Amino acid sequence: MRVTQTHGMGVDSAAWLSGVLRGELPFGHDLADLTVVTAMVGDESAATAAAMTAHMLPLMRAHGVRYVQVARASMRDEDGIVVLSDTHPSDPSRRPDPYRMVMRGAVALSEELYAAGTIPQLASRTCSHKWKGWVLDRWAEQEYDGAPRRHVVGFAAEETRRRDRDEGYSLASPGKQPWYPLIEAGWDRERCLAELRRWYGIEWPRSCCGFCPYQAGPDIARMIHRWSAEPAQVRAAVSLERNARAINPRMMLFGDRSAEQVARRAGLGDAVAQAAADLDARPAELYEVRRIYRRRGDRRDSTGRSWVLGPDPADKGRDVWRSLRAIAAGSRAEMLELLAAQQATRGGTIETVDGAPRLVLQRAAPPYPATEFYLAVAVAGATKQRPAFDELWRWVHHLDLPRQLDALGAR
Ligand code: SF4
Repeated sequence: MRVTQTHGMGVDSAAWLSGVLRGELPFGHDLADLTVVTAMVGDESAATAAAMTAHMLPLMRAHGVRYVQVARASMRDEDGIVVLSDTHPSDPSRRPDPYRMVMRGAVALSEELYAAGTIPQLASRTCSHKWKGWVLDRWAEQEYDGAPRRHVVGFAAEETRRRDRDEGYSLASPGKQPWYPLIEAGWDRERCLAELRRWYGIEWPRSCCGFCPYQAGPDIARMIHRWSAEPAQVRAAVSLERNARAINPRMMLFGDRSAEQVARRAGLGDAVAQAAADLDARPAELYEVRRIYRRRGDRRDSTGRSWVLGPDPADKGRDVWRSLRAIAAGSRAEMLELLAAQQATRGGTIETVDGAPRLVLQRAAPPYPATEFYLAVAVAGATKQRPAFDELWRWVHHLDLPRQLDALGAR
């Protein structure tokens, strides 16, 4: 039976692999049947790379364990994945790669986020699925072609609810037999950290992107420690957030707190100041940003050519449609100049949130559906609009509702 560990490079993965290879956790298989595989997102901390290089790689090398590193080939699913390194390739035409960390592929999650003008969402782990789960699934398809194998999932002992959710999902993949050995062994997160400290004399770093929104919960002190040691992580978090907030000022990395606020309160103002330079260095575009705040219950009519309103004009529900359309491209400074010049011809009000100005042409207000319209400068590449957007926009504008009081530039 072949065995795969999807190795996230964090505490749980490192504890299980070390426990097995040091003979302190049961394995019950031949080590020659074990493959350790990591999906690289491209935005991990230098501390993770250093811990893996100093401790995991020598251990795997000493025991002859196969280590594979994979990543997305591009932002498009059609392009599939690339193998960045494989120390024992199953393909005989490939020479084994040396044991070394390859921390990113041709693309990184941060590039996708800049180009989309967004940040990872606390409400979903879409980024994790796209940049890790999807990549690992494609690799397993290529590698096993549905053959039975044990799949080690490094959930700590307290993560039984995650195990219950994961089990159904895992069993749906042909040949995949999930195994949760840390839960079986009763090793919780604190035990894993303690064992890693005992073996390696370090606080094993949390494995995550420097801008991950999930790191600011109870563990926020550790995040501040990592940010202090690696200011590049603060710069990336703040510049990604600023770019996203130019398009949607409500976006904050940690839900109710912005990365910028957290960094400043932690005394990391210098790194925050450098974030502006990171944004200035990227090609920019001037965008028309339009939103339709729909009314709960509205829907297409039976002909499919028009729409029917929901019952309550004050209830905007949760469905918001957005259109981003670039109208000019250049450097960030040029685009900011153009934004200011647009006020002379279009009217509106310039508003600045966390250093990012917007030319507000129309604000949304009840009754719903209602529309919002402004111009903003953000990193190039974010143009996006769902096919029926213009049709719905026109319909909303032709409704005989008392319209927004400050409709400064409706079109
Ligand atoms: S570490 Fe956080 S930001 Fe990075 S892929 Fe995972 S969930 Fe997304």
